[in-house]
Amino acid sequence: MEILFGAAILVIVALLFILWCVRQRAKAQARDCAEHAARLDALEHARRALDEQLTAFTRVTSDGIVQVAADGMVTYMNDTARDLLQVTNDSTRSLREVAWGYDLQPLVNQVLGESGGNVSQTVVKGERAFHVRAVAIGDGDQRGALLGIGEVTELQRLGRARREFVANISHELRTPVTSLQLLAETLNDEVLNDKELVTDLMNKARTQIDLLKQLTDELMDLALIESGQAPIRLVTLFAADLVNDALTPLRPQAERKHITLETHVPPDMEVLADPQAIRKVIGNLTHNALKFTPNGGHIALRAVWRNEGADVEISIQDNGIGIPEKDLPRIFERFYKVDRARTRTQGELRGTGLGLAISKHIVEAHGGKIWVESTEGKGSTFYFTLPSGE
Ligand code: ADP
Repeated sequence: MEILFGAAILVIVALLFILWCVRQRAKAQARDCAEHAARLDALEHARRALDEQLTAFTRVTSDGIVQVAADGMVTYMNDTARDLLQVTNDSTRSLREVAWGYDLQPLVNQVLGESGGNVSQTVVKGERAFHVRAVAIGDGDQRGALLGIGEVTELQRLGRARREFVANISHELRTPVTSLQLLAETLNDEVLNDKELVTDLMNKARTQIDLLKQLTDELMDLALIESGQAPIRLVTLFAADLVNDALTPLRPQAERKHITLETHVPPDMEVLADPQAIRKVIGNLTHNALKFTPNGGHIALRAVWRNEGADVEISIQDNGIGIPEKDLPRIFERFYKVDRARTRTQGELRGTGLGLAISKHIVEAHGGKIWVESTEGKGSTFYFTLPSGE
């Protein structure tokens, strides 16, 4: 009996011990589970933060970003890439389909090839140019390439414009400098004794020096205006005074060519303008009218109110040689001249092709517009607007 009792106690103790062990293990497992869940939670949190950072990065960057798998299929594109490549639908497509017209696949092949690394290239299609950089990402099944695409159309245009600008200046300088060189070489003892010939040569030299001066003055004006160093100071003025002041230095030239120069400006009309700058515009436009109108021609300068008196429109009309229709859209570009040969035959000082570009800058700085209507062989009318001073 006692033995039985002892055995029963032992069994109970053993069962209790096993129960205790099981509970301890369960507790440890529960603790492990909780720790695991917390770790998973933290990982998920970190993944979401990384995702958000990546999304923000791809949104904030001005580059288009395209991810391409090793088989050439696009697996991701940000909105900028969609805009740049003009992708309108979201279906899964190959890089060739997405970037039609720009052959980007060789770039991808190159980074995924043995040399790998970081490759970049400028690709051009029509008017647009892109700089594309590619890097390899991932490995094994996940291997692919990431492309960063930036538009460089404007940069390339600026580079071209700068090169053209320098080429144009060189071209404009060459003629007067060569003429002066020739004139200097002509001045030998025999020529110097011929007073009439010397006077003629000196007049020719003066013409070329005036042209050089006009070119350097206009280049300086353009540089100051374009760099914002020629601020416009608006004051209220009578339009008639502005017009008369601008025309005074040109009247002798009109008289020499027997060109009538008439003005129609209401005496009470006021404008809000920088007098020095607008005198230059009226002067440029009238000087052109005088240059491109044959002897005995007619020039009329008019000023009228527009926009219920809010603006003043000034026009300068001539009955000269006019401008061919094909040249009209480019006439306000720097250095643009309709036809160099035509300009040279005008007898007056050759122009620089900068006057209209400067006038456009000045008028736009006043918040106005400048435009031209012209018929070849009949004449031209240049118009510009200014804010009214009333
Ligand atoms: P330029 O110094 O050569 O006159 P502008 O910029 O003032 O330069 O003018 C550009 C070109 O526009 C001129 O070379 C000329 O061919 C054309 N042009 C300007 N005004 C007239 C006009 N009133 N009649 C005919 N052609 C004009």
